[in-house]
Amino acid sequence: MGKEKIIKGIPAAPGICIGKAYVKGKETLQIKPRRISKEEVSKEILRLEEALSLTREEILELKKKIAQEMGEDHAQIFDAHLLFLEDRAFIEDIINKVKKEKVNVEYALQESVKKYINIFSKIEDEYLRERTYDFQDVGKRILKNMLKQKKAKEELFEKSIIIAHDLSPSETASLKKDKILGFVTDIGGRTSHTAIIARSLGIPAVVGTQIATQEIKTGDELIIDGSKGEVIVNPTQKTLEEYKKERERRKRLIKKYSFTKKLIPTTLDGKEIKILANIEFPEEISQVLDVGAQGIGLYRTEYFYMNRVSLPSEEEQYRAYKEVARRLQPLPVTIRTLDLGGDKFLSPIRVPTEIQSFLGQRAIRFCLAHPEVFKTQLRAILRAALEGNLKVMYPMISGVEELIEANKILEEAKKELKKQNKRFKEDLKVGVMIEVPSAALISDILAKYADFFSIGTNDLIQYSLAVDRADEKVAYLYEPAHPAVLRLIKNVIDAAHSMNIEVSMCGEMASEPIFIFLLIGMGLDELSMPPSLIPKAKLLIRSISYKEAHEVFKKVSGFSSPKEVEDYCVKELRKILKEKYEELAI
Ligand code: PEP
Ligand code: MG
Repeated sequence: MGKEKIIKGIPAAPGICIGKAYVKGKETLQIKPRRISKEEVSKEILRLEEALSLTREEILELKKKIAQEMGEDHAQIFDAHLLFLEDRAFIEDIINKVKKEKVNVEYALQESVKKYINIFSKIEDEYLRERTYDFQDVGKRILKNMLKQKKAKEELFEKSIIIAHDLSPSETASLKKDKILGFVTDIGGRTSHTAIIARSLGIPAVVGTQIATQEIKTGDELIIDGSKGEVIVNPTQKTLEEYKKERERRKRLIKKYSFTKKLIPTTLDGKEIKILANIEFPEEISQVLDVGAQGIGLYRTEYFYMNRVSLPSEEEQYRAYKEVARRLQPLPVTIRTLDLGGDKFLSPIRVPTEIQSFLGQRAIRFCLAHPEVFKTQLRAILRAALEGNLKVMYPMISGVEELIEANKILEEAKKELKKQNKRFKEDLKVGVMIEVPSAALISDILAKYADFFSIGTNDLIQYSLAVDRADEKVAYLYEPAHPAVLRLIKNVIDAAHSMNIEVSMCGEMASEPIFIFLLIGMGLDELSMPPSLIPKAKLLIRSISYKEAHEVFKKVSGFSSPKEVEDYCVKELRKILKEKYEELAI
């Protein structure tokens, strides 16, 4: 065993896990050609057929497991894998190589896979190009089965900590919850979607380490502290003991907080703040109810559109939204319409390259450009809204015309439903996510066309400070306490209140204790955060007063730097919470 080493990264999802590393993407096998005799040809072809059928079994099994653990939608990623296994042109290509060149079947397979990957990677169509990855995956699986490394991948995946250069949101979403202890990536920031999914699945994660895949080998013993953003490689016995104790202590704390379920988050001087939950998957509803959230403030629906080969139909979406609405009833659920783009882009839609840019045709821009896709979702939401307290909200609105256009399409969706004699909620409440600086600056204008606002600080910060939220190299510039960000937020809160509409915040900033304190002082009505963070947020709010928080806000309004703001908030919050600070504010 090597020497203990600490790798620092960005804390992405809290919790401690201890286990063995599995370095993803390092298992490439290089097969050398071996000449075979004429007599061996049929034996080699038989081996190919056996490997194909074994691979098919494995994929079906995997698909079933994912469907059970995470739902049918997530399992559909494997449909593309199964299609490759049945692709006659691909299989014939391998067989011909074996027959004509008299080479071993592993080599023929490897060369065919390379050939196909080369063809795929040159295709202009983004969707087809993305299939390269699936193809590579299937190729590796067949090869391993041929080499009698049956289920090698799954065995390695057995209760491991995944180390990867990067994990796309769809890869993260398809991780098997009970087999993955945690994960570490080289790139990515705290608000990258990979990190957000990890938090929602409750898997400890550290991102943006830059060097994890170089420094860690498969099989290394690891400790991940997702709260501190540290990865300890080959820990000593002493370190291991310390972390095990700490893990137990944190487990006890979770139990300890179960009493907060029924508590209402009211400040000491009687101001009631609402705390709602952010979810990505309907599977999270029980956790939302367990922590006593006052509703769902952000239901990110884009994961519906990812990891699958066809677009979700109106009926499929209707069923899912209806289930969420019913289970939360009478509590509110805010469904955010499709927010594809930026770092969330794997989808069946033929996604143009621009959408992968944070400044491109993403989110509402994409929906307005594809009204049929948008309307299908809106019809599903309108219908499901009869079953509970649903609201809808649009992401990435940057100007009033977009909002008016989106509302127009909503009206069209209603007309279509009427024509089809389908029942729906006529007066569905419409909200706007304020996550583009221009929207924050004209929030008084937008308020005329909206029933509520929700501030998306993950994007608002990246756009106002020109810092890519997924780029760890500029993570130090990603400052929620930047005076520019605070001024934008205050502007939105004031505009909303002067128009008598409520304002929520659903970005990650809304769950950080010192900012909760500051935001309450700024007059924010509602916070929406990952369910796991709700118990402490409730206790924190019940330990502070609006009056004190407002004084702190007034004071920091005159400060020049994010550091000054943060230091002052920490100092004041420490004074107020005293010995409770370590527990509630860290
Ligand atoms: C945000 O931008 O703050 C937000 C909540 O949306 P997302 O993180 O999904 O972009
Ligand atoms: Mg956003």
